[in-house]
Amino acid sequence: MTENHTTIIEFKAETKKLLDILVHSLYTSRDIFLRELISNASDALDKLRFELTKGSDVLDSDFPLEVRISFDDKKNIITISDTGIGMTRDEMIANIGTIAKSGSEEFLKQLSENKEAVNNIIGRFGIGFYSVFMVAKQVIIKSKSYKKNESAIEWKSDGTGDYEISTLDEPLKRGTTIEIQLKDDAKEFADKYRLEGIVKKHSNFISFPIYLDKDKVNTIAAIWREPKSSIKKEQYDEFYKFLTYDNEEPFETLHKSVDAPIQFNSLLFIPKKSYEYWRFNRDDYGLDLYVRRVLIQHQNKDLLPEYLSFVKGVVDSEDLPLNISRETLQENIIFTKIAQSVTGNVLSHLLKVAKDSPERYLEFWKEHGKIFKLGYMDFQNTEKYQQLLRFNSSASRDEKELVSLEDYVGRMIKDQKEIYYAIGASREAIDLNPHLEIYKSKGLEVLYLYDPVDEFVVSSIRKHKEFEFKSVDAADLKEIDKLDDVEKKEDQTEKLNADDEKHFDSLLSQMKDILGDRVTEVKESKRLKGSPACLINPDDTMSSTMQKILKMSNQEMALPAQKRLMEINKDHKLIRNLLSVFKKEAKDQFIADTTEQLYESALLLEGNLDDPHKLVNRLNKMLTEASELYKKASPSPSKGGEQE
Ligand code: ADP
Ligand code: MG
Repeated sequence: MTENHTTIIEFKAETKKLLDILVHSLYTSRDIFLRELISNASDALDKLRFELTKGSDVLDSDFPLEVRISFDDKKNIITISDTGIGMTRDEMIANIGTIAKSGSEEFLKQLSENKEAVNNIIGRFGIGFYSVFMVAKQVIIKSKSYKKNESAIEWKSDGTGDYEISTLDEPLKRGTTIEIQLKDDAKEFADKYRLEGIVKKHSNFISFPIYLDKDKVNTIAAIWREPKSSIKKEQYDEFYKFLTYDNEEPFETLHKSVDAPIQFNSLLFIPKKSYEYWRFNRDDYGLDLYVRRVLIQHQNKDLLPEYLSFVKGVVDSEDLPLNISRETLQENIIFTKIAQSVTGNVLSHLLKVAKDSPERYLEFWKEHGKIFKLGYMDFQNTEKYQQLLRFNSSASRDEKELVSLEDYVGRMIKDQKEIYYAIGASREAIDLNPHLEIYKSKGLEVLYLYDPVDEFVVSSIRKHKEFEFKSVDAADLKEIDKLDDVEKKEDQTEKLNADDEKHFDSLLSQMKDILGDRVTEVKESKRLKGSPACLINPDDTMSSTMQKILKMSNQEMALPAQKRLMEINKDHKLIRNLLSVFKKEAKDQFIADTTEQLYESALLLEGNLDDPHKLVNRLNKMLTEASELYKKASPSPSKGGEQE
């Protein structure tokens, strides 16, 4: 490539679209352009400091690490310069000229949902630099890389179609200077108080000095290293907002200073709201790791497990080597111990919240519980994890009231040895599940699981204390039947005589013939109280919910159809009537229809009926027949029939 040449390069279509919106339609929160430029300067300084600690050969290595802002209120120019890592020509084209990550598309999508959101989100999509065009009619960047023998580069653009890039002859010192020619309607920013206010509001905690003309404006306190007693809540809140771009205060603040066996300070926050954009940008989490106040890694992902990724904050240790590389961190035993300790602290803190103010803990659970539940793989912390889980249950008054496993165990009845759970789409659906009838009659509490991940949670933790989790359709009924009933109800239904018992057995085997291979067996039920029939799994087969999950995840091809066992409630009115019909005419079509209907209804209830057409047709046919009978049996009202 030739030296000294000037090239004009067009912005990509995606960038143009983004710039167009930034330039023409965003008038609120424009002051964040300064935060973004300072944040880039600070990143560049961090990178340089990292090179210095590694011992790299650095240009102007004795330069102070700082950011300087100046302005000219006659010419309406603001200049921001840093002594950071700088950029070469190629880096300039790659970093400033193009949007590296597919950030702009996501950004635009979110922006179209909420224009005000620009403030909170622009920095998160790797497009922060472009926010300068909200206030600039022209931007000139001059940069000199820390690498020796690289030329100084100038980049110039008005933020519309293209930019111009050229090699400079003038000798530049290491770092980057950004000169902003303000738009006519943005002149207000060329003002000392205005600029100072913005820096204090958004960039107060940048860990390098920021000078405005000659004065240092930011505080640069590494507040996580200060004693807790010296820090006010406002300072914590301010730091949190600086760190996360959140507008609200944090939900919880955890400040810890640990000296032995390993020294570290941590300042962690739990946000009030679960981060919406987590959905879009799965990498946007992690704690900032410092070693002796030097930022080693932004958003380190190994200090906390992913299920605690809603936690924001910083960790700083004296005991890690300054020149540690990000790649070897995970193998460093000191780092691993710090990570364990940080994780333990977060869990203990949550336990304390749960104990001291259960209501507040539920607020936390509502926001972050969905992510937190994914911790079922953290076997190391499983005890705390289990204590922090919450479920809806048959003992709850409504869907909102949640119970802990500890609550559940505290309410277990005499001789109960398992924790029972039922899975369904909603509380109403589970309430209607015939499998639950026997649990109700025994006064056994059942956990209600609505979230698909819940079944993974209970099946991977398997036990709470010594109590195994059991799905209501997979529990051992013989054991349950031995437990005392809550109230001994007088058996209203007459017992069948020996002859009818025999007929009942034949009816069951006829039902089996009707259903054929679809069921393994049709037998009398011990569990049903209010429903005529239900389907259960023969021992050791997959629970019906697991089947459903596998089906949804499209693995049905590999799955042999699960055969079910059908249970019939001998005391149910419908079954008694069916028995009468059977005694009169064993081959009556009504028996076949009812059997099919009972089978398909049970499938429907558990969400496993593939095609409802047959069921609906049959139901309509039976309703028609019933209405005919009803019409014949009841006297017509026009003839002034008597009331019963
Ligand atoms: P992000 O900071 O999220 O990467 P930006 O749009 O703010 O996205 O910046 C894009 C890139 O431009 C940065 O990643 C960096 O490589 C480069 N850059 C911006 N400002 C500077 C600067 N002052 N010094 C060095 N490089 C910079
Ligand atoms: Mg940036």
